[in-house]
Amino acid sequence: MRLARTLATLALIVAVAACQSTQPPRASADASPARGPAAVDAARMMAAGREPQNWPTHGGTYYEQHYSTLDQINDGNVGGLELAWHYDFDTNRGQEAMPLVVDGVMYTTSAWSKLFALDAATGREIWKYDPEVIGAKAVHACCDVVNRGAAVWNGKVFFGTIDGRLIAVDARTGKPVWSTVTVDQKQAYTITGAPRVVKGKVIIGNSGAEYGVRGYVSAYDAETGKLVWRFYTVPGNPADGPDGAASDEVLARLANKTWNGQWWKYGGGGTVWDAIVYDPDLDQLYLGVGNGSPWNHQIRSAGKGDNLFLSSIVAVNPDTGKYIWHYQETPAESWDFTATQPIILADLAIGGRPRKVLMQAPKNGFFYVIDRATGRLVSAEKYANVNWAEKIDLKTGRPVEYPRARYASDTTFMNPAGIGAHAWHPMAFSPKTGLVYIPAMEVPLNYSNDTSFKFRPGRWNTGINFGGPVTGKVVDPIGRPSSGTINIGGHLLAWDPVTQKEAWRVPMGQPWNGGALATAGNLVFQGNTTGQFVAYRANTGEKLWSFDAQAPIIAGASSYSVNGQQYVAVLVGYGGSMGVATPFPGPAIEQPNGRVVAFRIGGGKALPPYTPQLKGPAAPPAETFAPKLVAEGGGLYAANCRVCHGGVILPDLRRSGVLADKAAWQEVVIGGALEPRGMVSFRDNLTPQQAEAIRAFVAGEARKLQAEQKAGKAG
Ligand code: CA
Repeated sequence: MRLARTLATLALIVAVAACQSTQPPRASADASPARGPAAVDAARMMAAGREPQNWPTHGGTYYEQHYSTLDQINDGNVGGLELAWHYDFDTNRGQEAMPLVVDGVMYTTSAWSKLFALDAATGREIWKYDPEVIGAKAVHACCDVVNRGAAVWNGKVFFGTIDGRLIAVDARTGKPVWSTVTVDQKQAYTITGAPRVVKGKVIIGNSGAEYGVRGYVSAYDAETGKLVWRFYTVPGNPADGPDGAASDEVLARLANKTWNGQWWKYGGGGTVWDAIVYDPDLDQLYLGVGNGSPWNHQIRSAGKGDNLFLSSIVAVNPDTGKYIWHYQETPAESWDFTATQPIILADLAIGGRPRKVLMQAPKNGFFYVIDRATGRLVSAEKYANVNWAEKIDLKTGRPVEYPRARYASDTTFMNPAGIGAHAWHPMAFSPKTGLVYIPAMEVPLNYSNDTSFKFRPGRWNTGINFGGPVTGKVVDPIGRPSSGTINIGGHLLAWDPVTQKEAWRVPMGQPWNGGALATAGNLVFQGNTTGQFVAYRANTGEKLWSFDAQAPIIAGASSYSVNGQQYVAVLVGYGGSMGVATPFPGPAIEQPNGRVVAFRIGGGKALPPYTPQLKGPAAPPAETFAPKLVAEGGGLYAANCRVCHGGVILPDLRRSGVLADKAAWQEVVIGGALEPRGMVSFRDNLTPQQAEAIRAFVAGEARKLQAEQKAGKAG
């Protein structure tokens, strides 16, 4: 149908990669010269593994193994891997996208939901498209204005925006073809995940479960942008009746009875913000469902019921959205234990026979192997330090929880906690080594029941006092006294999914390291928070090569080839939930703008020289404040400011020029003077007097920082 345009634009197309001798024959469509950019159809997608020169969907193929069968770059020659090109973005917010590559053209998104088409061999910009998102929506993004990438189909590129649109762009011209608002933009919905395209339908979820929304997944016609089906992951208000959606039947049959209280007032949660995986063998779509809203099950559901389909993997029919099966990893979710983490499909030999399984390492710290045909649990073991449950009972598929895990009375030291033992960062599976490579983390937190919880629409709602100063006793989930000491870290973990045992690990100082890519060259690539992009030997974890990218890397890499040359490409740029909420140790540095870096053997290029810019000095006002006001401000700061201003990306309020100016502070916090940059007015949640109390608290913190800076103890 697009043949005429396809032929006419052929001259613009970057050369198709030559086939490598080590690769199986390419699909016949691949040899045809008569096709335009992003000419991906069902046949090509189903056989994507036979076109290793391309990376046409999130994770490489529908199996989302984040594995390349290319082996031109391998453990024998990776020492000669050099920068081939870089392409710089215009923002220093978090870069989480995985670049797609089709026939020599790279499609990637950046923070603030911008889309780019680049020559995959040179980095030359072919076009870019900025949907000019509503800046004020940033306040509804729990975890930074990130975007995890695009999808391609039939000459179009699809991506979601932080303000909830799904946009189709012409892959040749970079001009929008259609745009659909997928959410109620008055509510706190955002989109950060990459869409997937299955049989001509674009599948997209959303985020916002920290802010009081109800999760769902939608399928849109790729040609027209018309809604085909929608699946709600949690029930709505029973008084409103059915939604007229694909989920109506199963919510009525299975889910409604697992909810109690007045959850709909808080949205219920269950957003599907990352993993949406199509199974080409069984023609099923797997949805990874998020946490409850609010987190605290006591508040959300009066402490009763499993709350389906929170923290579950749900299999649906991709044509209709109708339910097939589900497996709930964390019944009665109460900790932000999402099941949204990356899902990998594989055939594993288990007990001597081949099984079609899916694998997931969700936040709750257990590695799950699930039979894709039935949804039955095959095995689940702890891949991290886990203190909330003893084990998963293989007969019932349910966790055996420790008695104090639900933090009903004392403060409970939870490990893992809301950041998870693994978040959205891609994990990779190498069929060659049989290992899964997980960017694993240890980020515990102290949880206590928020007895004065009051729902605030569009604001952070967890029902938990966490991370703040601990009052009273701290216990672990077994009930033993705990120091409540929070030590954080991360490592690259190689995990055998058949034996459910660790093969090796590489420790990192910090959590929030990059996604993993495995290749047939016996390599695993991963960036990290020190700004190094590293290649490890896949079977042993031996470090073989690294590149100084000048800024932390959190995204996952992809691999492709052009003109017979294999490339590995990754986005550089720190951010995401840890980026906005948690400081780095050491000097405070302004994070530089993000970029794409691509490597090949003998690439011969270098990044421009870089000198880290130190953040400005503490800027406390001269005036002093009453201790009572400071104390009040401390609580308000924790509840309203810290999740965005506690990290390294957004302004450190202790160093803000606005801090010493009472009127300017009011103009920003209450007046909304910086709304276009995402700092909305808090007038619905704070009185001017409360805003002043926060200034009083931050002023005290700024004075402490100033003293440390004078003593040479802080940057
Ligand atoms: Ca969450």
